[in-house]
Amino acid sequence: MCHPLIMSYVKGKAISRRDMFRGTAAAGAAAIAATTALTPRSVLAQPATRVIDLTHTLNADFPTYTGETLFFTEEVFSFADNGFNLDNLRISEHIGTHIDAPLHFTDGGTTIDEVPVETLVVPLAIVDIKEKADANPDAQVTPDDLKAWIATHGPIPQGACVAQNAGWQSRLGTPGFRNADDGGVMHFPGFHVEAVKMLLEEADVTGVGVDTLSIDFGQSADFVTHYEWLPANRWAVENMANLDELPATGATLVVGAPKHQGGTGGPCRLMALI
Ligand SMILES: [Zn+2]
Repeated sequence: MCHPLIMSYVKGKAISRRDMFRGTAAAGAAAIAATTALTPRSVLAQPATRVIDLTHTLNADFPTYTGETLFFTEEVFSFADNGFNLDNLRISEHIGTHIDAPLHFTDGGTTIDEVPVETLVVPLAIVDIKEKADANPDAQVTPDDLKAWIATHGPIPQGACVAQNAGWQSRLGTPGFRNADDGGVMHFPGFHVEAVKMLLEEADVTGVGVDTLSIDFGQSADFVTHYEWLPANRWAVENMANLDELPATGATLVVGAPKHQGGTGGPCRLMALI
């Protein structure tokens, strides 16, 4: 049985014009698709007794990538007047703890409602870069970080989400979360493009995650990591919470992704089972 994401990739669903011109990522993923055959695995990384919430509470004050308010609620019915409560929401798809679907950085890629549900319950591998992120907010997850993780913990689990823990949650509620300089350029960690290339070429990884606003580090102007990762028909989750409560490996991530037709992603409830 082929990996569901890779199968839909092979069908050509997510090959963007950009990839056709570049020919590299598409050819690389097709080669992986031709040689990757997965054996069925247990849905849980290990028997689980606890659920950890990896989701930040979303409100109008949650920091956004652009710095604008992108979360609005409007009361439509109230218990006092109507006997029940109901609000309308107007939000960006890319706010708070959320998922990026391949469509976010592709032309005609997989939409959020098309992401196979089998790929949303996966082993979670956490790469701790807190020490270097403390010293340098422009730090990134590099191939060397991934190699060190593998040397300590063994191979990255099949189908995993690999998540960056930069300790950024401790900055939430302060300007240090966006960490913009006087010129408006943000400084927070993300995945180096060579690290996601390594995950595409040398591992069977379904998603990547970060505890910061973007899988590209804050000062990125070209979104090279997004352009490498999402067109390979993988997903990403951003603004993850509570990664400190989990071991580096052994947890199962449940991505409660939204399912609105044609969407590029959306706020989701992330849970870890350990
Ligand atoms: Zn996003």
